[in-house]
Amino acid sequence: MSKSTTPQKGKISIHTENIFPIIKKWLYSEHEIFLRELVSNAVDAISKRHKIAIKESLGATPEGRVNISLDKENKTITISDNGLGMTKDEIEKYITQIAFSGAEEFLSKYDDKEEKTGIIGHFGLGFYSSFMVAKKVEINSLSYQKEAEASHWSCTGSTEYEISEGNRTEVGTDIILHVSDDQTEYLEEARIETLIKKYANFLPIEIALNDEVKNERNPLWTKQPQELEDKDYTDFYQTLFPFQQEPLFWIHLNVDYPFNVQGILYFPRMSHELETHKSKIKLFCKQVFVTDNSENVLPEFLTVLQGCIDCPELPLNVSRSALQNDPYIQKISKHVVKKVADKLNEISKQDKDAFITMWKDIHPFIKYGMMNDDEFYKKCEPIVAFESTSGEFTTLADYAKTNKNESDEKTTIIYSTDKNSQASTIASLKEQGKEILLLDARIDSHFIQFVESKSNNFEFKSVDSVAADALQSQDETTDEEKSSNDDLITAFKTDLGNETLTVEVAKLGNEEIPAILKVDESLKRMVEMSSMMSGKSSIPGLSMHTVVLNSNNPAVKLILSKAKTDNDTERQLVSEHVYDLARMASKPLEGDEMAKFIKRSQTLLVKSSQA
Ligand code: ADP
Ligand code: MG
Repeated sequence: MSKSTTPQKGKISIHTENIFPIIKKWLYSEHEIFLRELVSNAVDAISKRHKIAIKESLGATPEGRVNISLDKENKTITISDNGLGMTKDEIEKYITQIAFSGAEEFLSKYDDKEEKTGIIGHFGLGFYSSFMVAKKVEINSLSYQKEAEASHWSCTGSTEYEISEGNRTEVGTDIILHVSDDQTEYLEEARIETLIKKYANFLPIEIALNDEVKNERNPLWTKQPQELEDKDYTDFYQTLFPFQQEPLFWIHLNVDYPFNVQGILYFPRMSHELETHKSKIKLFCKQVFVTDNSENVLPEFLTVLQGCIDCPELPLNVSRSALQNDPYIQKISKHVVKKVADKLNEISKQDKDAFITMWKDIHPFIKYGMMNDDEFYKKCEPIVAFESTSGEFTTLADYAKTNKNESDEKTTIIYSTDKNSQASTIASLKEQGKEILLLDARIDSHFIQFVESKSNNFEFKSVDSVAADALQSQDETTDEEKSSNDDLITAFKTDLGNETLTVEVAKLGNEEIPAILKVDESLKRMVEMSSMMSGKSSIPGLSMHTVVLNSNNPAVKLILSKAKTDNDTERQLVSEHVYDLARMASKPLEGDEMAKFIKRSQTLLVKSSQA
């Protein structure tokens, strides 16, 4: 029998002694971010002071400024601000209660919907990052509040602190870091300047180092797109990525509902197909730099983009792995994908030529993106362009308009993967009025497969799979012809000494062509796929093609006329030559085969000169 018991309630207790080393060690991966945190707090304090002054009609406040001063002799870094300051009670409340964020409390008290506060902090842990580089931290602060008295706080990184009267005479706060012996790199001016540029360059408030302002403020993404010209964007690109060629295009993100994101992303000029790069997107949170490594923010195919994204709803200490599954980040990512697709559509509508020029460089990325993102596929499908053998670029819809047979359900798209080696077949098909698309990028063989699976309207066939049928004349084959065709096939195979070869006979409209190879489309694709993976261009024992002999051609007629004779050297010569010519129309002969071909050509030339 089970006895029912009332569940007991308990409370998990946390010992602060244990938490300090954890913060020091695990909260942030890099020590240098202490500066980002302290500067953010200083900037927050300044924003809060302005905000309060407006709300409580306290009159004008001095212009906000954060100054960082380095004292090598005393080994201190002081971060001073003229923000709202803290009273003794506030220091006790906000600083000494770990994970109690004064920023959150402020937001609930002062935030209103119409106006963004721009407060950065909300985690209540940033201040303690100072102990990653300092063995002792002091605070000198004077609150803006009437009759407030200056206070002084100090702590050596244990759970004990001292608090007493201070000596600051102006409203604001100094944070004094006594730098640990192994962190003295942070006493170097150059090091701190680099960090200001990295983390604080675009903060809206002046950040000075030893009284010299170092940051740029007002980055371009905070402005309205309507106010900006192309040059503003290209100049900004240059400041972000000096010495780079002008970008191909850019998108300005400027959303505040239903989620908040600002930023400018550039599509760089590319030189190589599927060039791999390290992501060059800088992630900001309210103009404070967070990370360069934003690989998980955008889908892989958009990591070619360069620029800045400001995600105000992202906490500063977000971990990289957390980014990917964050719903807010997913929304941003979706939005960027949509903007890129919209931009491409816009350019293709506005300036076809400019679009095509650009398309030649970027199509592998776009195709790759389409294969990875359904929404992107839908939006980009109408603009995907292929070069045709006439040199023009055409979309699939345009191709269908001019090339689809009324009677067919689908549009058959004829393509060539190599316009040089397939030149003669292409020429014969063009004579028949067929338009042929050149699909010679590495991604194309995958891409066409994908298009076929997505849409029921298109079917891709390579020139060598359609040529034999397309070039066929309309004449019917008689029974008599059928039996002589069998003789022809037997003779041809005997001459080549190849019994396994697949041979057919057809009547081609153009009698000059002795034979063509017919390739099975699905087999061809299978071999292509396997060659991509294995690096081998054929599958042993698998014949890729059927030889189609043209019974209208005089050389083929000659083979037939001697089909019943045994060991005819002339017939063998012609058969071999017909086969080589057919093969050469799709792929150059190699090594020994080429040597034999030349030798045979010479013999034939001598013969025809003597005749
Ligand atoms: P958060 O910024 O996420 O709130 P912090 O640990 O960085 O957490 O800071 C804790 C709190 O201490 C802040 O919210 C703020 O109330 C107070 N504070 C820190 N630095 C300053 C400063 N320079 N001036 C005024 N208040 C500050
Ligand atoms: Mg903070």
